[in-house]
Amino acid sequence: DDDSSRHHVVFRSKLPDLPNIPNHIPLHTYCFENLPRFSEKPCLVVGPTGTTYSFSQTYILSRKIAAGLYTLGISKGDVIMLLLQNCAEFALTFMAASMIGAVTTAANPFYTAGEIFKQFKCSNSKMIITQSQYVEKLRDHGKHNPKMGPVITIDEPPEECLHFSVLSGTTDETNIPYVTIDPDDPVALPFSSGTTGLPKGVILTHKSLITSVAQQVDGENPNLYLKQEDVVLCVLPLFHIYSLNSVLLCSMRAGASVVLMPKFEIRSLLELIQRYRVTVAAVVPPMVLSLAKNPMVGSYDLSSIRVVLSGAAPLGKELEDGLRRRVPQAIFGQGYGMTEAGPVLSMSAAFAKQPLPTKSGSCGSVVRNAELKVIDPDTHSSLGYNQPGEICIRGPQIMKGYLNDAQSTAATIDEHGWLHTGDIGYVDDDDEVFIVDRAKELIKFKGFQVPPAELEGLLVNHPCIADAAVVPQKDDAAGEVPIAFVVLLTGKEITQEAVKDYIAKQVVFYKKLHKVYFVSSIPKSPSGKILRKDLKAKLAFI
Ligand code: AMP
Repeated sequence: DDDSSRHHVVFRSKLPDLPNIPNHIPLHTYCFENLPRFSEKPCLVVGPTGTTYSFSQTYILSRKIAAGLYTLGISKGDVIMLLLQNCAEFALTFMAASMIGAVTTAANPFYTAGEIFKQFKCSNSKMIITQSQYVEKLRDHGKHNPKMGPVITIDEPPEECLHFSVLSGTTDETNIPYVTIDPDDPVALPFSSGTTGLPKGVILTHKSLITSVAQQVDGENPNLYLKQEDVVLCVLPLFHIYSLNSVLLCSMRAGASVVLMPKFEIRSLLELIQRYRVTVAAVVPPMVLSLAKNPMVGSYDLSSIRVVLSGAAPLGKELEDGLRRRVPQAIFGQGYGMTEAGPVLSMSAAFAKQPLPTKSGSCGSVVRNAELKVIDPDTHSSLGYNQPGEICIRGPQIMKGYLNDAQSTAATIDEHGWLHTGDIGYVDDDDEVFIVDRAKELIKFKGFQVPPAELEGLLVNHPCIADAAVVPQKDDAAGEVPIAFVVLLTGKEITQEAVKDYIAKQVVFYKKLHKVYFVSSIPKSPSGKILRKDLKAKLAFI
């Protein structure tokens, strides 16, 4: 029962579909499938220290940790939370969890305790694996959350925490339970606010992630963005699906080495590229900005770079051209992704017709074995080439749905299996995707999600505030920053600074409000929806 009877323009990849994506097996089996071909090659390299795990060591350690997790009571379907900067333990634990049919939910370690526990509770996590520096904030909050479960640290554990060696030091790695894993079982649970509302658990199954990785790196094509001989920079945080999927899982599958960098800092990034002869760099627009403009770049040898891939937020043409000048030998491309889509919808570096450069601003063509369409946001009718509208994607890589939220799932994936992105874009005559606007609420600060509904919820909790709306304002460095319109309760007074402080105490740095405007009312539709367009238009005149 399909919608193909109706008139639709469906866009497909420029590459032929893969005949067989092995998405009936578990994710870890798929990722380690080619291991005999490169077992002694470095798989994970911890950038700052040089500690290296070969593919076979990565596999064996993942199995030990799987046995360790099982011994600590984690079994099929259980969720564990990772609260880590990029490190080998992140990758190992993710694979280990997959091996016993468990699910990983990763959160930003810079989150406030409040933000962490919302995700912890919503995901029904059973355990937290973290670094000692984050335990303090967990502890304060944990007093009110007695069901927190064990807290394991990868470094010296503070009191009441366990050391990671309880997992990795397991002597009998054969003690892995036999579990049958269904392709539709969840394996990763990233959080995203999607097109509207609060952050929700995005169920990515074994099938979705295998399909997505295969769409990017499987098959014999000379133009795939990542190959066995590559050294791939992992500077984007692994708690975001872009890095987990397109950097870590793709590299493991392809047999490429991953250089892990705990956090972004331009000098060490350049230093690591030079030291490890990095060939593929997955970045976000603010990093493109640094690479294009920072004078320090000239003092490092970046000649090893073959591909630079930017994603997670729009990239200005000027920056793209600046970067191309800095690393002229590299193919530059954008990836367009959305957590709910698995996440990659389209990619350009992968499909560059070497040696021709890809078009400026292009996000490449839709991934293989998937369908993309562009619809008129009002009438929902399908649009043809060069006509901007809402981008929709369909294929086995998209999420199964939001965790315990059938309503949001139904509002995002329609009855014909199309995922509605809330992004406005078009496909040009060469089948290349261009993103021109974002129709959904989501604000993106340097590629990080800032869900307006979350900040609005906090604002209206304030005893002086009657109503509030949060919208993005363009910003050169961050792309967008959140700003608030606030209606005060009659007779109450509060300063802009006090409102900003009130929010800043409760959220991670990139969700902080940059400005607060006091207004007499928030424009709303008859059904009570905030008219964000009106507020954005108003901003242009302030
Ligand atoms: P996330 O789920 O955090 O990956 O955010 C997904 C959203 O980021 C998309 O729906 C887009 O609005 C935006 N985005 C991702 N990649 C791009 C890109 N290459 N160009 C423009 N916007 C992008």
